[in-house]
Amino acid sequence: MKSDTHKLSKSQVVENIPAVCSNEALAVEFFEKQRWGNTPACVKCGSVNVYQMRDAKTGERNRRYLWRCRDCKEQYTVRIGTVYEESRIELRHWAYAFWRACTSKKGVSALEIQRQCQISYKSALFLMNRIRFAMAPEGNLPKLTGTVEADEMYVGARKPRYPGISPKGRGTTNKVPVFCAVERGGELRRRVIPDVTGQTLRSALHEEVSRQAHLITDEYPRYKKIGRDFASHETVCHSTKEYVRGDIHTNTVESTHALVKRGIVGIYHNISREYLHRYLWHFDFLWNNRKMNDGERTIAAIRGAEGKRLMYREPSG
Ligand SMILES: [Zn+2]
Repeated sequence: MKSDTHKLSKSQVVENIPAVCSNEALAVEFFEKQRWGNTPACVKCGSVNVYQMRDAKTGERNRRYLWRCRDCKEQYTVRIGTVYEESRIELRHWAYAFWRACTSKKGVSALEIQRQCQISYKSALFLMNRIRFAMAPEGNLPKLTGTVEADEMYVGARKPRYPGISPKGRGTTNKVPVFCAVERGGELRRRVIPDVTGQTLRSALHEEVSRQAHLITDEYPRYKKIGRDFASHETVCHSTKEYVRGDIHTNTVESTHALVKRGIVGIYHNISREYLHRYLWHFDFLWNNRKMNDGERTIAAIRGAEGKRLMYREPSG
């Protein structure tokens, strides 16, 4: 099949990501489009006086998808200078892993990528680590405002390791606390926190939430004093089974917690405290880009990979 003659229009690029995942020529073309738009440029000297190398007899694209620059005479591919240069994994597998990571609400495991793409587990881990990194927030994000729900959740150890300590809720020592604030109708900010002291919660809130915001939390006493720093502070009293009082509830933040918990229990099983934040990048990216369609979200993640290539460090464990 002369697959490389199938040119994709801009709208098709978004719609056709599943096709791209099964055909390397389409995948290369897709990544070229993401990188260069309609103006392919030399990765060495920046010249746009470039051309695709083709087989002299068949006219088909070079098997390695090489380009050549007429100015500096260099040959190169779309991988050069990107995260894809560091491995030989085919670009269709990258496309598939990005697609699955951006369209499965609860995430996708390296094991599943290994099975679907028929690549080694090591390669699948390589893909997923970089994809999560591509989803990490960049720079200083704007503070949340409007109506903001804040709450903590606990991730990890599913059974108590010490008799007498409840496996649920505040006060347990063997779970990792995660703070989350969600702006209704907007984005969320989530982070692993060392503890749930008033000081920790206060600094997390101040870093993520504007003082003009209307804050909603549950009745945890440590929020009471902190709440005075904001335009208003309402609480719902979960201990008396009060969950909703008109507009006053923390259902939004709790539903994002639930997605993380289901994803981590059902897909990733066990994540160490050290790496938890990498998985949170993924869940947070999905939530904060939930208004995009699947194709747009996939492309947003791919662009993130390009922007962060040089900062990536392989996990040490
Ligand atoms: Zn050049």
